[in-house]
Amino acid sequence: MDSIATRLQLIRQRIDTAAQRSGRTAGSVSLLPVSKTFGEDAIREAVAAGVHRLGENKAQEIRSKYEPLADCNIDWVMIGHLQTNKAKDIARLASEIQSLDRIDLAIALDRRLQQEGRAIDALVQIKTSTEPTKYGMAPEDLPQFLRQVARDMPTLRIKGLMTLAINLPDQTAVRACFRTLRELRDRMREEAIEGIEMERLSMGMSGDYEIAIEEGSTEVRIGTAIFGGRIYNDDYYWPEGQAPAKG
Ligand SMILES: *Cc1c(COP(=O)(O)O)cnc(C)c1O
Repeated sequence: MDSIATRLQLIRQRIDTAAQRSGRTAGSVSLLPVSKTFGEDAIREAVAAGVHRLGENKAQEIRSKYEPLADCNIDWVMIGHLQTNKAKDIARLASEIQSLDRIDLAIALDRRLQQEGRAIDALVQIKTSTEPTKYGMAPEDLPQFLRQVARDMPTLRIKGLMTLAINLPDQTAVRACFRTLRELRDRMREEAIEGIEMERLSMGMSGDYEIAIEEGSTEVRIGTAIFGGRIYNDDYYWPEGQAPAKG
């Protein structure tokens, strides 16, 4: 009863209900299942249930899963902090990156993508919370960044923005993060930078996706609620030992 397929179905229903509650249509919010820390069996179960796009937050993990699961034709989406020296793996193996958060990473990715003869979709990760350890670009740096990517880096097709909300039980603070991202997206849309699309808003995880949808999310990234609990929880949200203290 409690299979990955069952949980996927339940979450899709909840996503649609939240979308309709906020005046949007069922099917207008998409689901990105996040398979980090889970192995081949769980992923094959998800694929059998209709999943073909999966989020991972470490380049090494995409690399180690890519070959054994090649027959599944999965589109791998990078959602975690990426060190510049691992840009090559993402340029080779990922269909998309949602954690593009600085110009030196954009430059490294563009160079590797040119070598591979590929282009990928990208969302810019924005820091919307005041937590000191969280990755993401400061909102005020976004316009300049977008102009530079649009001008110099045709291999990065910018489609919108991504964020992680503050890691607190306070729903008002969580909602404020999502609202900040949507308002920033709306302002950027008005600027209409040529070559930059600003439609997508990737926001919301297992614990807060219904709030994110109410605030305009077009895509939620869900791990735990589909695949179950992970052993190394915070380490996998905030890699490299930068987990903030629990609020
Ligand atoms: C792990 C992770 C998620 C999914 O988190 P859950 O709470 O397991 O749903 C979403 N986004 C990012 C960037 C992640 O690292």
